[in-house]
Amino acid sequence: MRQRASWIVPGLALALAFGVAAHGCRRRAPAGQQVADAAASSSSAPEPPAPSANVTFRVSDASGRSIPCKLTWIGRDGTPTPDLGFGRPTRSVEGGLAAHHRVFSLTGQGAISVPSGSYDLFVSRGPEWSLHQQALSVRPEPQTLNVTLTRLITREGWVSADAHVHADPSWDSKVPLAARVHEFASEGVDVLIATDHNVVTDYRPEIERAGAKGLLETVLGSELSTTDWGHFGAFPLKHEQDWWVLHGVRMTGTPADQLLRAVRRHGPTALVTVNHPRLGKLGYFNVGGFEPKSARFAHAHVSFDFDAVEVMNGAKHGSLEAVDQVMGDWFGLLTDGRRITAMGNSDTHELLTSYAGYPRNYVRLTDPTVDGERLAAALREGAAFFSSGPFVEATIGDKSLGEVARAVEKKVTLSVKIRAAAWVSVARLRAYVNGRVAKELPIAPSNETERFAGEITLDTPDDAFVVVRVDGDRPLPPVVGGPPAETLFPVAITNPIYVDADGDGKWKARKK
Ligand SMILES: [Zn+2]
Repeated sequence: MRQRASWIVPGLALALAFGVAAHGCRRRAPAGQQVADAAASSSSAPEPPAPSANVTFRVSDASGRSIPCKLTWIGRDGTPTPDLGFGRPTRSVEGGLAAHHRVFSLTGQGAISVPSGSYDLFVSRGPEWSLHQQALSVRPEPQTLNVTLTRLITREGWVSADAHVHADPSWDSKVPLAARVHEFASEGVDVLIATDHNVVTDYRPEIERAGAKGLLETVLGSELSTTDWGHFGAFPLKHEQDWWVLHGVRMTGTPADQLLRAVRRHGPTALVTVNHPRLGKLGYFNVGGFEPKSARFAHAHVSFDFDAVEVMNGAKHGSLEAVDQVMGDWFGLLTDGRRITAMGNSDTHELLTSYAGYPRNYVRLTDPTVDGERLAAALREGAAFFSSGPFVEATIGDKSLGEVARAVEKKVTLSVKIRAAAWVSVARLRAYVNGRVAKELPIAPSNETERFAGEITLDTPDDAFVVVRVDGDRPLPPVVGGPPAETLFPVAITNPIYVDADGDGKWKARKK
């Protein structure tokens, strides 16, 4: 059935440009209304009681200050992995919020109820911190856990951001906004970019309510989700109920070129991303028939008016094969002279098998105040890399990601530094020139934070783009992947440093 949504505000050309079909999905209220509803439901719905708390935790940094953290409980020796929500998808606990077998704490201090049994407990605060892991026997009697985590990777000038995040305002997610705030803050992600399907969600009231100001920033955006042309991310967007007329309803019959034009008109500063470009019929590159060799689409009504491509999409769809394929598409675009940014996001829809901030983007921002427009601008410049674990710095001389370096006698010297927490495996470094592997180096296993620091000489007879990719050979521990989720491997991919070889001060694509 095809119908116009009844709440379309008169006089909005955009409304008329979109064919809006309900497709039997939940009819959603306008975005502002949803934010209010989510808040009301999280505070007023009565919670059936959980057994009284028997495990008290206190998680601190090396200075003794308690810190946000995530506790992951996995059953062992015949004990099942627990449901710490005791029948509810999420439950408020002292010092945080429990969901499935995890607790997200903003304060690092609290108390929870854990069924008696044997467990592997993991305490984590994201990939820049050490991981505490211990076998633990839990009984009804109270016990106290004191855990210290150490920050291993400092990163002045880099902001971490996950630019693909779903929660309750999306038709395919039931996660309350409060749970997302707890999850992202405990994972050490600096910026949560809201991208619910065809809705602009504003997390600011929820961040304030949770007491997470100073821990987590947010940027308002949306995932423009069509049934027939794939999904596109856009941020920052204004939280104007009047113009965003789609209100979470699936879009059908809106060609990509028309959709992207409309987004540019309404959010001129927004970064526009092609999300999961090869995910079946939800992938724009599949639907449009994109061919990386020619860097052309086979079909009509396509557009190249996007800024970034999601090269890695979450734990569910972020297999290495999928990353390789989209990386090939991205190299095709760059080879054709299009400066498109590579991104990696979690595309998290629930709290069990998708993980906030894995992977996440690290964006170079010298000014510490995060704002959506500056974040979008830096990403558009390619001043970023994404990672599910390792922290990778790559420079040529004084030029960093997204900048143009000068070749000297048709060569450049690439400096690479790789840091990773001991629980993140790093096994291989590859340097690509114009989309081809130019140097590949094995990296020995190590518990040191610094895994590699060195220089690599690359031949650049012509203008070129240089990309660094780092891979681990062991999957991430159950704080990130493992049953029941897909296994997630450590991967980091930088945006290019562009090379000017002919001395005109610019990077140009090679002639085909
Ligand atoms: Zn999507």
